[in-house]
Amino acid sequence: MEESVVNRGQSGLRAKVLDAGLCTGCGACIDICPYFRTYRGKTSALFPCIVEEGRCFAWCPKVEVNLDELSNRIFGGPYDGLPLGSLKSLKASKAGPEAGSISDAQAGGTVSALVTFALKQGYIKGAVLTDREGLLPLPRYVDSVDDILRCASSKYTAAPTLSAVNRAVAEGRRDIGLVGTPCQVLASALMRSNQLQRDDFVDPFGLVVGLFCTWAVDYRLFEPFIAARISPERVKKIDIPPPPAEIMEIFGEDGTRMECSLEEIRPLVPEGCAYCIDMTSEFSDISVGVMEGRPEMNTLIVRTDRGERIVDEAVSAGFLEISDMPPDNLEHLTWAAGNKKKRALLRARERGIINSGGGKEPSYLLMNAEVLTRLTEEERGR
Ligand SMILES: Cc1cc2nc3c(=O)[nH]c(=O)nc-3n(C[C@H](O)[C@H](O)[C@H](O)COP(=O)(O)OP(=O)(O)OC[C@H]3O[C@@H](n4cnc5c(N)ncnc54)[C@H](O)[C@@H]3O)c2cc1C
Ligand code: SF4
Ligand code: SF4
Repeated sequence: MEESVVNRGQSGLRAKVLDAGLCTGCGACIDICPYFRTYRGKTSALFPCIVEEGRCFAWCPKVEVNLDELSNRIFGGPYDGLPLGSLKSLKASKAGPEAGSISDAQAGGTVSALVTFALKQGYIKGAVLTDREGLLPLPRYVDSVDDILRCASSKYTAAPTLSAVNRAVAEGRRDIGLVGTPCQVLASALMRSNQLQRDDFVDPFGLVVGLFCTWAVDYRLFEPFIAARISPERVKKIDIPPPPAEIMEIFGEDGTRMECSLEEIRPLVPEGCAYCIDMTSEFSDISVGVMEGRPEMNTLIVRTDRGERIVDEAVSAGFLEISDMPPDNLEHLTWAAGNKKKRALLRARERGIINSGGGKEPSYLLMNAEVLTRLTEEERGR
C-alpha cells in the first residue's frame, strides 16, 4: 500500500489549522513568505505554495506542538501539565517609581516597566508589542521608551503580533523582546527551538514576557459590536474585571463608561481559543496577569534564569515593586488555569486532535499519554 505523504507546509497548515477552525491569528505564519496574509484579524493563504516543509507549519501553535520537546528545551524537563507551568517564583507586582508614569497601563504596569528596564539595560535592543488603531490591533517593533508606553494596555482582540517579529528578524534584528498572549508565546517557543534543523538558526529573542489569557475576541465580530455602542476611535480603554463581575467595561475618551455582559461577548471568541490549554503563558521567561481584587496590581510568574535576573535587577533599580501573593489569589489562579487546561484537553481529545500514542499524522498536540490521562481525570487543577 502506498504511504500517504504528510505535508508540513502551506497545504498541511490549511488543512489542519485554517480549515479546521483552530487559527487564532497569532501572526507566526505571516511575513515569512509572500503567500500568507492577515487582514482585519483573519489569516488567509493568498496563493498556493508547494513547499513540503515550511516555517509557517513549524511555528504554528495549533499544529504538531510537541509539549515534551519544548518543555525539555526551555525548562530542562518533560511537560508535566502543572496548572501554572514550570516556575521559579510567583509574586504580586507593580511598576516602581523609576519606570515613570505608565498612564495607560492595563493594571499595575508591570509589563511596560519590565520591557522598559530590559531595553535600558541592553537585555533587548527593541520589542515587539501590540498597539491599536481604533480597535484594530497593530503589531509593532519599538525601540524607545515612549513607544513602549504608547503600546501599554490590553487589546482584547486576537492579534497577529508575531508578524512583527518576522519582519524584525528579516531586517536583521536580534535580542528582540516580545510581549504576547499564551498562543503567541507558544509560537515563540517553537521559533526558538530550530524546528527545521537549520544550520543558520538563531534564537531572535532576548526576553519573552507572556500575558495571562482566558480568551480573545475576533476583530471582525468585535468591531461592529462596539461600533454599535461607541465609535471605536473614541475608545480609551477596555477592561474585563475578574469574576464574579461577568462584564466587559468600555471607557470612552470623554470619560464615559459602559458595560456589556460576557454572555454577549463569548460568541465573538474564535473557535481556536476553546482548545487552548495555557492560561498563563507557560513557555515565557516571565508571565504577567491581573490580580483579582487588586486592579492596580499584577500577578507575576518568573520562569527562567534570564527572567529571574531581569526581575531581580528591575526590583533593585526601582523599576518594579514586588510583594507576596495572597494565598486565596494563588489558590483561585491555580484552579482557573487547571480548569482551562482540563476543558481544552477534553474538547481536543474528543475531536481526536491530540496525539499521545505515536501516530504519524500531524495533530494539534503531541503529549505523553499518562499526563493526558491525569489532566483530564483530575477533578481540580493541582
Ligand atoms: C487578549 C487578552 C486576554 C487577557 N486575559 C487575561 C485573563 O484572563 N486574566 C488575567 O489575569 N490577565 C489577562 N490578560 C492580561 C492583562 O489584561 C494584562 O495585560 C496584564 O495583567 C499586564 O498588565 P500590565 O498593566 O502590566 O500591562 P501594560 O503595562 O499595560 O502592558 C500591556 C502589554 O500587553 C501587550 N498587548 C496588549 N494587547 C495584546 C494582544 N492582544 N496580544 C499581544 N500583546 C498584547 C501590549 O503590547 C503591552 O506591552 C489578558 C490580556 C489580553 C491581551
Ligand atoms: S494560529 Fe498563527 S501560525 Fe497558525 S495559522 Fe493561525 S496565524 Fe498562522
Ligand atoms: S485563549 Fe489561547 S488561543 Fe485564545 S487568544 Fe488566548 S492564548 Fe490565544
